[in-house]
Amino acid sequence: MENRLRIYNTLTRKVEPFIPNEEGKVAMYTCGPTVYHFAHIGNLRSYIMEDLLEKTLRYIGYDVKRVMNITDVGHLSSDADTGEDKMLKGAKREHKTVMEIARFYTDAFFADCGDLNIKTPDVVEPATNCILEFIHMIESLMEKGFAYESGGNIYFDTSKLKEYYVLSNHSEEELLVGVRDDVDEDENKRNKTDFVLWFTKSKFEDQELKWESPWGMGYPGWHIECSCISMKHLGEYMDIHCGGVDNIFPHHTNEIAQSEAYLGHKWCNYWFHVHHLNDKAGKMSKSKGEFLTVSLLKEKGYDPRVYRLYCLQSHYRKPLEFSFETLDNAGAAFDKLVKRIGSLRKEGAVEPEKFDAWKARFQAVLCDDLNSSMALTVLYDMLKEDMSDATKYALAEDFDRVLSLDLTTAYAQRQAENGVDEELEAYVLEKIEERREAKKEKDFARADAIRAELLEKGIVLEDTREGVKWKKA
Ligand code: AMP
Ligand code: ZN
Repeated sequence: MENRLRIYNTLTRKVEPFIPNEEGKVAMYTCGPTVYHFAHIGNLRSYIMEDLLEKTLRYIGYDVKRVMNITDVGHLSSDADTGEDKMLKGAKREHKTVMEIARFYTDAFFADCGDLNIKTPDVVEPATNCILEFIHMIESLMEKGFAYESGGNIYFDTSKLKEYYVLSNHSEEELLVGVRDDVDEDENKRNKTDFVLWFTKSKFEDQELKWESPWGMGYPGWHIECSCISMKHLGEYMDIHCGGVDNIFPHHTNEIAQSEAYLGHKWCNYWFHVHHLNDKAGKMSKSKGEFLTVSLLKEKGYDPRVYRLYCLQSHYRKPLEFSFETLDNAGAAFDKLVKRIGSLRKEGAVEPEKFDAWKARFQAVLCDDLNSSMALTVLYDMLKEDMSDATKYALAEDFDRVLSLDLTTAYAQRQAENGVDEELEAYVLEKIEERREAKKEKDFARADAIRAELLEKGIVLEDTREGVKWKKA
């Protein structure tokens, strides 16, 4: 591997070299959305930065298999298995069935991802597809003595583990307070940190989705789905698991507990967590009512790619406070950037040495714990370098495999949307350049002839202090 990625690992709490289990291949898992509402732009910050990680891995030569679940059952309003089922809440709110809600918001999620140039993972699996796998894993945990039945539900017994808090070094109390929307202790639990694997005789009498199980009709807890779905598609060993920082506890902590108890060996080597997008009131969240979506940004006239650029401008390990002023700045930067690249002349030769040197610089900053803001700086510096337009264009196209901002196509696309004829513009710019050369050589007859030729085609030139401008007559 030409460039070795160094990445912050929540498990070891340090930036370390990324070494996958199998040379050249990466098994990657992402916690997918809970599809009871639109994704807010905070959720999408996590997915943009995870997309950056996946594309960086591919860019530096890995063959990545990425799997994502869709949570369409079992996620309660508090991550600590208390409160109302989020999917039921969504269905009630919209007077629809849970499955209708799930379908609608899954489609909406992928439409948002499309707008943000987030690649769809190789495998996307809804939790409700895998009920038999969940039951099988829970049965095995029962046999191995890691799970127990109490009050009709099946719980994971965290006291059976040597170490439960492998992902965080916070005190137990702090962590528990951190995850609660509403504190509501479940008296069936043997230990405070035990969590539900399967709900049967729960308080949710009206649970719409129920399945037969060895313990009666019921439905799975939230955490079990990610362990099962990842193992179904990636096997017993995983390289990297992603999510937002709120997933560290209890979700990922519980995933590790049950997966390693089930497998009897270490499961996943690297844990990648994206810090939150906050608003002035704190963490953006779906359950807080008003929240910002990609559709809302579009309604307000923002190109979703501007939001992607906005996220790339900050490191994934820093919390980011959202404001429309900073988004406007990203919008202005995006306009300038794509215009600059859109006006590069594609003809001519690519200078291979320069191309390789700039590509190496770009790779190096990405490999430094995904330093996306430095990657943008490399792009800007590259555009300022004294080298052929063809080299710059080729590099912009290459960098865009990771940045995914449509760097080489966005300007032409915008021009076309605004009714600007790309070909005509290229022709006029070429004539303006010819005229400038003619004037420089004091060939004023040729310069006038060019002006006349353009006028014949209905193009008027205007010499201004900022240079030559043109318009249709
Ligand atoms: P959910 O749909 O609630 O299951 O969350 C989907 C993803 O978004 C998870 O990886 C969360 O950790 C992440 N997430 C939730 N809130 C935020 C936020 N404010 N900023 C960044 N990521 C978030
Ligand atoms: Zn998960």
